[in-house]
Amino acid sequence: MSERVAKRPTLFTVPPAPSTETKLRGARCSSGHLFFPPQQIGCEVCGLYGDEIEIIELDASGTLQSFALSHRQQRPGSTAPLIIGTVALDAGPALEVVLDVDDTAGLSCGQRVAGHLVDVGEDESSRRIVDCFFAPTEPAEPAG
Ligand SMILES: [Zn+2]
Repeated sequence: MSERVAKRPTLFTVPPAPSTETKLRGARCSSGHLFFPPQQIGCEVCGLYGDEIEIIELDASGTLQSFALSHRQQRPGSTAPLIIGTVALDAGPALEVVLDVDDTAGLSCGQRVAGHLVDVGEDESSRRIVDCFFAPTEPAEPAG
């Protein structure tokens, strides 16, 4: 099994293969504010920084708030359009994610989604590059 490397190593964890589970790396200030991604400048809410900021792992699960088609390529060899969503994490912060679905038919706002690791290529040392994509964990609400 070849080594895996995160496409954005500061943003999510990569467990030993073949697990596709991941946690997001967020931050918490000593006043208890959570934010993602961690910022060098410190807490977005109260401005604490340095030793007052702790890097923590956030569950990669939440609620889909919005989604949109993009015409960028999702991964090498794929012809599927890229679908971008905004997810409100259960931990609080909201973030933009790539949705690991072929089209928007199975998506609805308010749907439960979770992040997992997806192979997106290989680096110059033949390590597999993985990224964190999100996908629904429940069926979409019927359109109405
Ligand atoms: Zn704060």
